[in-house]
Amino acid sequence: MRLTTLGTGTVSLSPSRVCAGHLVQRGAVHLLLDCGSGVAHRLVQQNLDWAGITHVAFSHFHTDHISDFATLVQAWRYGQLPPRSAELVVIGPVGTVDLLRRMADFHGDWLRQPGFPIAVIELAPGATHDLGDGMAIGCTKVPHTDESVAYSINAGGRRIVYTGDMGYDPMFAEWARGADVLLCECSLPDSMAVPAHLTPRQAGALAAIAAPRRLVLTHFYPPVEFVDIAAEVAEHYSGPVTLATDGWSTEV
Ligand SMILES: [Zn+2]
Ligand SMILES: [Zn+2]
Repeated sequence: MRLTTLGTGTVSLSPSRVCAGHLVQRGAVHLLLDCGSGVAHRLVQQNLDWAGITHVAFSHFHTDHISDFATLVQAWRYGQLPPRSAELVVIGPVGTVDLLRRMADFHGDWLRQPGFPIAVIELAPGATHDLGDGMAIGCTKVPHTDESVAYSINAGGRRIVYTGDMGYDPMFAEWARGADVLLCECSLPDSMAVPAHLTPRQAGALAAIAAPRRLVLTHFYPPVEFVDIAAEVAEHYSGPVTLATDGWSTEV
């Protein structure tokens, strides 16, 4: 699998980091994990096949994770000739069907019927879904909003775990144990810590339990970049750590 971190920032606006979004590709499967503001244009900037995305998975319904979805659908419908005809599969927590209905109520019927089929898979915690080409996606509940989930993407014996947004939860770390890549939010420094997000030390403590082959950090609010993130993570986790940037990519 190829993982590309497209958006490593938040709604605390940054000139170098757009809102959350990450691409996982293998064979014909092009899975976009979250789709926040700026992610659609990052796909183009990175010369990625934006027209060929097959799946979009939402970790939760905060604006910084969903707001470019309508932009992408509009691009697939009106931004290319011929328009898209291939089915799109949208994956998300329970409530995703209603989310898309409310989006269409606001944007218009073109979002409900864009000229290509949209299948919606509401994935309950513990469930898995076959993505095709030997890939599967599963999820678990994480503490952030009522619907928030973390995702596990498996293919060919490799595993990527993506936290979405979350507060500290050792049970999650047990679920993530043995991932090849743990793509983990790292929102705020200790001085600004809140229960719904992780600090670098908390991300390190989760990684110490999960023991991924590589810890990749994302979802940085600007203040967290004023502390020595790698050093604080290393107080708990001694494995390799990457502070992702928009456009960073790795083979998993
Ligand atoms: Zn959130
Ligand atoms: Zn967020």
